[in-house]
Amino acid sequence: MKKLGRGRPKTVHKKRSGRKRQDSSPTADENAKSEQSVAASQATRQTTAYLKKLFSEVGFSIDTKKGQNFLVDLNLLDLLERTADIQPDDIVLEVGSGTAALTERLARSAYRVVTIEIDSRLATLARDRLIDADNVNLVNTDVLAGKNRLSPHVLSALDEAEKQRQAAGKKGRFLLVANLPYCVATPVISNLLLTRPFSSATVTVQYEMADRMTASAGHHSYNALSIWIGSQCRSEIIRVLPPAAFWPRPKIDSAIVRLDLEEHRRAQISDLPRFHTFVRDIFCHRRKVLRGVLVTLAGGKKSPDAVSRIDRLYDTFGLEKNIRAESIDPDTFVHLEHEFSRS
Ligand code: SAM
Repeated sequence: MKKLGRGRPKTVHKKRSGRKRQDSSPTADENAKSEQSVAASQATRQTTAYLKKLFSEVGFSIDTKKGQNFLVDLNLLDLLERTADIQPDDIVLEVGSGTAALTERLARSAYRVVTIEIDSRLATLARDRLIDADNVNLVNTDVLAGKNRLSPHVLSALDEAEKQRQAAGKKGRFLLVANLPYCVATPVISNLLLTRPFSSATVTVQYEMADRMTASAGHHSYNALSIWIGSQCRSEIIRVLPPAAFWPRPKIDSAIVRLDLEEHRRAQISDLPRFHTFVRDIFCHRRKVLRGVLVTLAGGKKSPDAVSRIDRLYDTFGLEKNIRAESIDPDTFVHLEHEFSRS
């Protein structure tokens, strides 16, 4: 996996250049757009004071078990939006609408936004705020239907957005942009990569998870998620966010992470669900020597066939007998799994 950032960066590592016109003076259209955008962002201003007032007016009590930590640092909300680099024909999925502070911004740049909110009280507040945004479909549901499946309501809302875009003769990307609820961040990203791959994902997650998402082989955080993401995406930690960026404050740091799908690397994975399961099975036993785990998966050490199969695999890849899964990079894992399943 190519990891562009390491450690705990405070600033953007890589500048993503937008398309530029030769003449830098704004057109009438751009002026109007910029005025709208100023007006919209002023209307949005999701500050702690704003949220406290709103929630006390409607009698809303925060449910921290649902990861209800709202982003109140407006500069960071700007950074999230800028990093996502949304283009006019893009379809954006947001998981966790909250009060729609981010949704409103996404709607200004995207062709359509599908935003998901589990909490019906927040869904009502968000709908009020989005009354004029006719390119937003807010779905009041749990994004997951079970541990390892995206809700069919989410998938059909995305299908619908795609149909509308096709009918309008437009082509664009599918992006995930969200301040993700920590409780579902891993399954949402994993399942999207399995069944509905995004071109890019720009998300805030807990720092620990950001570290796992971007870890390279040998790093202490490297695990099944690092391999699953690392085998098909370029990943980058854009900014570490202190607890004070949110209200209420979480106990730990968070980070904005950007993932970019690399189609040619994804195409190397011969069977995505099989590879996903293989990696997770291996990392259930991450502290064990890989060879033992592979022998078990192949039928157990009492099976002479399993042992010789794995011996051949080790010869082919020139692996040391005592190598552990955490020191094997994602691309090697892809080839290893392919050979393992063929043998
Ligand atoms: N987007 C808002 C912001 O940036 O301030 C809110 C983000 S807050 C971290 C996460 C949101 O996800 C909350 O509104 C929470 O109710 C919602 N949520 C939590 N679990 C969810 C789930 N399983 N499906 C959909 N939404 C969920």
